[in-house]
Amino acid sequence: MESLLENKKDIKSFTLPQLKEEMEALGEKSFRASQLYEWMHRKLAESYEEMTNIPRKLVDLCREQYRYTTLHLVQVQESRIDGTRKYLFALPDGNLVESVWMRYQHGNSVCISSQVGCRMGCRFCASTLDGLERNLLPSEMLEQIYAVTRHTGERVSNVVVMGTGEPMDNYENLLRFIILLSDENGLHISQRNITVSTCGIVPRMRELADKHLQITLALSLHASTDEKRRELMPIANSYSLQELIEVCSYYFEQTGRRITFEYSLVKGVNDTDEDARKLIRLIKGLNCHVNLIPVNPIKERDYVQSERRAVEAFQNKLEQGGINVTVRREMGRDIDGACGQLRRRHLESNL
Ligand code: SAH
Repeated sequence: MESLLENKKDIKSFTLPQLKEEMEALGEKSFRASQLYEWMHRKLAESYEEMTNIPRKLVDLCREQYRYTTLHLVQVQESRIDGTRKYLFALPDGNLVESVWMRYQHGNSVCISSQVGCRMGCRFCASTLDGLERNLLPSEMLEQIYAVTRHTGERVSNVVVMGTGEPMDNYENLLRFIILLSDENGLHISQRNITVSTCGIVPRMRELADKHLQITLALSLHASTDEKRRELMPIANSYSLQELIEVCSYYFEQTGRRITFEYSLVKGVNDTDEDARKLIRLIKGLNCHVNLIPVNPIKERDYVQSERRAVEAFQNKLEQGGINVTVRREMGRDIDGACGQLRRRHLESNL
């Protein structure tokens, strides 16, 4: 039964033109595609039952032909400090993913996962400890936002693809997800309010630049020399900092979008004055912004968060060097903030 389900096409991952083709192939009028699309992507219907203007016969046909992806809410934790909510969802095949909802002054933001697990192996990250299980479908990425919207009853205005997984390692599905999420017939979230974070898979970043989307590209830098970066991130063995900087500058040329560099500060590893100086030299002249994140310690590794004073000193140094920099406000500290922690804890407790 399960494998039959798997073989079915996924109706929520079709763009509207694709869905029209599907309907025509089934001998249906193409306006039915618009109706179905509206139910799925605008009214966020949880099942065909809600689609009151779709004839029974077509609903039955769709059920037979397609899978209708929804997520099952397993757990939600709300931070008492700042109202941040962390969601644990089960996918149709039982795999688990995490999403985070944050309320900011400029609107609500959701951080989503792009894969079940991850194969990038970054040393400080909890998501990668058990490797990659599988890619998420476009619908499974969308549903994280839809499910959170239904649960909170509030509109989401910003989406960051910064949860578990490497989005550039699930490139085709990521692109489809962005098209669907920003589509005017769906939730219509402006591409300018979508951020995709990557550990730096250079050829994919170049391809993405050539698509001329208006999304923000965030690069997880975390070090200012190749040697140090290789210690923290295995991907640094494949691409040098020089190549990364070049592709970031290409992304800006092609899209006009300023690059964000993420830099997680680890005590005694990448937070010294010299690290800051080298970072300035590396990125100066690039239209960019640096986001400093005091590393979130995970119990499987012995990395320690930089002290507050070291973070401030690092920030000041960058500012003096003419770099735009902010320190990421820590949200949901009391609810397993770091990527992959909630899912891991859940899996461990069920062993
Ligand atoms: N794979 C993508 C997106 C997911 S991780 C990427 O590498 O960018 C989102 C961000 O959180 C990345 O910058 C990642 O390096 C960082 N991160 C992961 N674990 C962390 C931790 N324990 N503390 C601080 N930042 C962490």
